[in-house]
Amino acid sequence: MECKLCGSEKIQQISIEDKYYYCKNCELIFIASGSLPSYKKELEVYKGHDNTHENEGYVRRFKDFINTLIVGHIDEIEEVLEYGCGPGPVLADMLEERGLNVVKYDPFFYPEVNYKKKKYDLITSTEVFEHFWEPKQEVEKLIKLIKPKSYLAVMTSFHPGAEEFKEWWYRRDSTHVAFYNLNTFKYLESNYPLKIVNTNNTNGIIFQKNN
Ligand SMILES: [Zn+2]
Repeated sequence: MECKLCGSEKIQQISIEDKYYYCKNCELIFIASGSLPSYKKELEVYKGHDNTHENEGYVRRFKDFINTLIVGHIDEIEEVLEYGCGPGPVLADMLEERGLNVVKYDPFFYPEVNYKKKKYDLITSTEVFEHFWEPKQEVEKLIKLIKPKSYLAVMTSFHPGAEEFKEWWYRRDSTHVAFYNLNTFKYLESNYPLKIVNTNNTNGIIFQKNN
């Protein structure tokens, strides 16, 4: 088996539920292809999420995300792709309130949107990377859609390491199938035209595309 991000064969199984693998090269933790959730199961879970403006905790996390990672660059941003926006596009609304043009795409809730027809000054992807079945393909697709010197801002909880992973709450959502930490994102920086601009080293990171 190969790592789903870096392709390394330095893979170690995590001794829990026989489905999680840890890559010693890029530190991605991923679920083996045979154990991925069904489309039906995924849709069921996503519809159960309370992703609305009325959910205060949810809204606050986006405010923090914008204020910490995006606000400092907002003068450079006009066209945004909200990749994986879910059923109630709260973050997209917040960015539109700041005068940005936001294309909302989600494979479950906005599948018909042709988001590939242009390139963006910012791609946001919040609580989405952990759902990627094929992280390498997804990341490479997104990089192609970013304009030179423009941004990719990601929210996903950084995993605590292979040992602590077993007790980690974030893995308990059955639709979470790929987990990253700062070293995984440093792997992206080393191997793709991306530079880490800022991160809280907990659940948020923003990259700038080099060229
Ligand atoms: Zn790897």
